[in-house]
Amino acid sequence: MDKSEKNISCDNEVDEQPINKKRPYKLDIVWLNVILCSIVHLSALYGVYLAITSAKLITTVFAICLYQITAIGVTAGSHRLYSHRAFKAKWPLRLIIIVLNTIAFQNSVYEWARDHRLHHKYSDTDADPHNSKRGFFFSHVGWLMCRKHPDIFEKGRGIDTSDLLADPIVAFQKKFINPTENKFVSVMSVGEGWHNYHHTFPWDYKAAELGNYKFNFTTAFIDFFAKIGWAYDLKTASPEFVRKRAERTGPNGHSGKPIAPWGWSDQDLPQSDRKGATIINCSKRTRGGSEICLRWGRG
Ligand SMILES: [Zn+2]
Ligand SMILES: [Zn+2]
Repeated sequence: MDKSEKNISCDNEVDEQPINKKRPYKLDIVWLNVILCSIVHLSALYGVYLAITSAKLITTVFAICLYQITAIGVTAGSHRLYSHRAFKAKWPLRLIIIVLNTIAFQNSVYEWARDHRLHHKYSDTDADPHNSKRGFFFSHVGWLMCRKHPDIFEKGRGIDTSDLLADPIVAFQKKFINPTENKFVSVMSVGEGWHNYHHTFPWDYKAAELGNYKFNFTTAFIDFFAKIGWAYDLKTASPEFVRKRAERTGPNGHSGKPIAPWGWSDQDLPQSDRKGATIINCSKRTRGGSEICLRWGRG
């Protein structure tokens, strides 16, 4: 990270609460997860071998499609809807999302979203479940195979997740479908790029710069459901709003700030974000608080 990036702040209104001094922590590998992770990846390699040598073409096509479609359950579901509350979804859409999410096998929505809110709030500290300061391997794979740092438990208690369990579909999945042992699957491999932008505007349902829109399958998925009314209150940052923020803080919002808001329902989200956001398919309740409401397809 260069110096200029380090000095840029995400938002001025967020409290600058000091993070605990580094506490001693001994790496504790969870061997069960290492073994399960190895089995899953070796099986995947064997699958590639079978695809080349003996599987029918239709089976290979089905496998690739299944991967693409179920990843939506993580990108649109665990990530944009549940971690960040970047839009709202009627129950049939939430049901579709949970089914896809369960097949994707990336832990329950509840745990995924709880960990991800911590990642946004305490980015690059010991309270970040995949703290990038602990290296590339740890932040992409290793964190799923060792015991959590004590700071994660401590700070995790301060993260509000009541909205997640208040959703009966999420509560059902947590209770009956995804066992917690499924932690070993990699979480960040689903093509959610534009990291700096996303940490500055975690509540943007596009989770990407506008220019990336065409290639963003997840955004197209959410837009489709907005068109038929199953997705609503979609929050996004207009180019004008992004430009103003960049003028104030520089082009890289993702910063050295110790804590940052994790999304739309976070109490710490500055009022200026709430007012400045563009909201698509506004529901009556949201219309009261926001300044820019758009119907789907206009503007
Ligand atoms: Zn991140
Ligand atoms: Zn995120």
